[in-house]
This record gives sequence, C-alpha cells and structure tokens, in this order.
Amino acid sequence: MDKLKDPLGRSFRVLRVSLLDTCNFACTYCVCEDPLIPEKMAETTLSVGELIRLISNLHETLNLQTVRLTGGEPLLYPDLAALIAGIRSLGIRDIKMTTNGFLLARKIEALKRGGLRSINVSLDALDEERFFRMTRRMGVARVVEGILAAKEAGVDVKINTVVMRGENDNEILPLLDFAFRHGLKIRFLELMGMGHLHGNADGKFFSKQAMLTNIASRYLVRELAKRPGETATYYRTACGNSFGIIANESQPFCSDCNRLRLDVKGNIYGCLSSNVPIAIADITTQKGLEASLCAALAQKQLKFSGSELSMLTIGG
Ligand code: SAM
Repeated sequence: MDKLKDPLGRSFRVLRVSLLDTCNFACTYCVCEDPLIPEKMAETTLSVGELIRLISNLHETLNLQTVRLTGGEPLLYPDLAALIAGIRSLGIRDIKMTTNGFLLARKIEALKRGGLRSINVSLDALDEERFFRMTRRMGVARVVEGILAAKEAGVDVKINTVVMRGENDNEILPLLDFAFRHGLKIRFLELMGMGHLHGNADGKFFSKQAMLTNIASRYLVRELAKRPGETATYYRTACGNSFGIIANESQPFCSDCNRLRLDVKGNIYGCLSSNVPIAIADITTQKGLEASLCAALAQKQLKFSGSELSMLTIGG
C-alpha cells in the first residue's frame, strides 16, 4: 500500500466503476451526437461476477474506502442491486452512484436494500426546454420524481448541475431555490474539456466566479473550508443553506485526488486527463496488479487538462 503513494502523497481510496458506456440521455457536454441508444445494456459490459472479482482484487491491495457506480447510465445495468450487495459483502460500506435519475424512482427501494448509501443525480435545468437542450431528452418531472423518491427512501442525495454559458446558466437560481426548498445538496460544475469538448470548451465555459456573481444577486454567501480529497468547495448562505461548486478549471483539486477509475472493459485509469487504458481484467498475480496500479498512479496530473475520451468512456 505504501508503495502505491506518489510524491504528493496521493493514493487510491475511491474507485469509480463505469458499469456501461451507453446512456439513455445524450448530454451535449458528454457526447457530440445523439447515439439514440435504446434503454438496454450494451453487450460489452462486465458481469456482476467479473466486476466483484476485479473490485475485490483492487480492495485487497488498496483498502478502498468508497466505490462509486457510474457510466454511462448505471441504472441501465440489469443486476444493479445484486452488484451493490456483492460490493457490500467485500466489506466496503460506502457505496455511491452517479445517475441521470430518469429510472430512479422505480429502482431506489431495491438499491437501498442492496446497500446503496448515497446518490448524485445530474439535473441541469428545471425548465423542460432547457433540460432538452442539455440532455436531448424530455424528462424533468421523471428526474425530479427520482430525486424526491431517493430522499424519501433515506438515501443521501446530491444534485449535480453542469453549467454551460448561454444554455443553462440562468437555471442556477431556480435550481438553487429548488434544492433549498427540498433540503437537498446541490453542486454546480464547471464545464470540463473532455471528449468532443477537448480543446473546444471555452465558448460554453461558465466559471466559478460567474456562478458566484449570479448567486450573489439573490443570496449572501460565505466560503467554507474545503475538506481533503473533496472535489467541491462549499458555500453557506446567510439563511444557513449550503451549495457546492466543482471548479476543475478555476480551482483545480488534483493535488489531493484519491480516485481510480475502472471502465467497462476492465481497464483502469488514474486520471481523467489520461487517455491510456491499463488493462487489469486478465492479471492473475498481486505483483502484476501492483505494477498496473503504479502505472495508473503515475498518470495523475497537477492540473486537469482533459483528453479526447468522454466521461461516457472513462466513467464520470
Ligand atoms: N449518466 C450518469 C449521469 O448523468 O450522472 C453518470 C455518468 S455522467 C458521465 C457523470 C457525471 O459526469 C455527471 O455528473 C455529468 O454531469 C458529468 N460530466 C460529463 N461530461 C462532463 C463535462 N464535459 N464537464 C463536466 N461534467 C461532465
């Protein structure tokens, strides 16, 4: 474990697992075209058994704190509750998921029973027309229903909103009001130059400072101290509500990054800015796995620079 620390003291404690590289949405910041994929799982994904084997091997070496299930859209993965229960049986208690929430309301009870603790739901607008412009799908009511069902089920819920200039920047205040009204945590994300936006995100970029200026038109806010390994900086309003901003560009948080990614083909990545997959599915020895993890650790950067791989491929 000590070998697996870089000169900045970074190691891997959080594993993000991409369950499939297809999605029932086609968000413009993620994919440049609408692939019109039906609501079914692609055949290239790993089975529950294969995933548990890989996660177990990684856990034995890394003593993982958290596993976050993502994609693509993880709610399209058929045996999700069984997978969550399997991860839990490895002794990993902190199991989280990032989802677009479209299929959440009908699945949340089973996922909670399996051991899911916490969910991040992407919601980029409350206005249906703007939501459609961002996701290329209609579905605000379904996503909101999913968010409220998850809260009702007692799962910790956070909303993630990617802000794009001229697309949904005027949704910041309505979303903030919505989150405050329902006692939900919300984080606004700066646009990242990944996939088709690599080297091409500037026109739509809406900075952390621009978000704060927008929010200050209604709320008095103060910044809170940032916790190590946390991606978001949090702010508190004078009324005691809080929200976060994930500012990859304006306030990079790579120096204490503790995340490792596993994709749908059994490759690991140590950094979102790396486009070099490291195959671990066929590794059979501890030495081999450690060498792969060292190579993944060496991918970590000091500042996010992105790559031509989209979040859909590498796992968001
Ligand atoms: N389908 C799920 C969802 O929509 O949340 C999980 C996968 S999605 C790729 C995971 C996260 O990546 C989402 O919160 C999404 O907003 C974020 N994301 C994808 N592309 C991004 C980009 N170019 N900039 C910032 N965030 C991005």
